[in-house]
Amino acid sequence: MQRAAPQDFDRVLSSMCTEPHPAAREAAERFLATNPGDPGTYEQVAELEREAVERLGAITGLSDPAGYVTSGGTEANIQAVRVARNRASDSTEDPNVVAPEHVHFSFRKAAELLGVELRTAPTTGHRADVDAMAELVDDDTVALVGVAGTTEYGFVDPIPAIADLAADAGALCHVDAAWGGFYLPFTDHEWGFDHAAVDTLTIDPHKVGQAAVPAGGLLARSADLLDELAIDTPYLESTSQVTLTGTRSGAGVASAVAAMDALWSEGYREQYERSMANAEWLADQLDARGHDVVGPELPLVAADLSVPMTAELRERGWRVSKTGAGEMRVVCMPHVTRSMLRSFVADLDWY
Ligand SMILES: *Cc1c(COP(=O)(O)O)cnc(C)c1O
Repeated sequence: MQRAAPQDFDRVLSSMCTEPHPAAREAAERFLATNPGDPGTYEQVAELEREAVERLGAITGLSDPAGYVTSGGTEANIQAVRVARNRASDSTEDPNVVAPEHVHFSFRKAAELLGVELRTAPTTGHRADVDAMAELVDDDTVALVGVAGTTEYGFVDPIPAIADLAADAGALCHVDAAWGGFYLPFTDHEWGFDHAAVDTLTIDPHKVGQAAVPAGGLLARSADLLDELAIDTPYLESTSQVTLTGTRSGAGVASAVAAMDALWSEGYREQYERSMANAEWLADQLDARGHDVVGPELPLVAADLSVPMTAELRERGWRVSKTGAGEMRVVCMPHVTRSMLRSFVADLDWY
């Protein structure tokens, strides 16, 4: 029987994940048979997880961070909503979370699972409109969410203004930097713990961080926030657990540390510069061909290619995706090179 093989990355322009860094791949393999969900037994990987959180703190501007390596941005966002809901459990029985309408769909899962109302505010120019968000805030608001690197356009919400609004409302401020978090340190954006009164933050090593899947990250400004998640664990040596999953991937944890060891900070900076230059080049090429282009603010380009044109590109093996509004969307991940984009544009011209 033929061995199954994964896809090549040479025509993948739609993914928010990428090829793991060689060191991350090697570390993932080494730690396959470990479970950070049982830190009393698997001490080495538990120590690595503390290192991962330390490093994620350095990247997001937080010394002495609390947090853990999640299965991805979805789990981190669910847990952040859970922190906010549990923290306010004495003051409201009908909690709500206020977010811009472009929040990732994981917040819909969180709302449904946790019995929290998700209120989404209209945006202006693909960015959160803080006034519109303020209109949705009331006494039952437990958290406000800003996105630092939106999934569809790669735009960054005004995080300091959202944090101010949260503080005024007595609610938590959560930043979703699942995708953007490893690009943003090299930009002028204000998005992290050191820019605003952010309480919790999602940042995924398995996206731009170049770790193996599954490796997401949830960070909290202080340990007491994470304590809101603690559940007693009678049969483990450790006495409580804050994670959503029980048994977890030690491969994800080890590969996250290995990737950050190899790349933070100069490797990630070079990657950001290369990816951003590629995105700007592609935006120029599309613009010169008469397309309306959105961005790039981070290395993600959206443009109004026609549906048949996008279909033809897919026919030619290109993996491209669409925004909710129908634009074609190209995510300039680390595996996306200039020469890939040149042949992509050549295929566009052929059409
Ligand atoms: C990808 C993404 C998520 C979800 O992360 P998963 O790792 O796919 O669970 C959440 N928020 C944003 C902004 C994302 O880009």
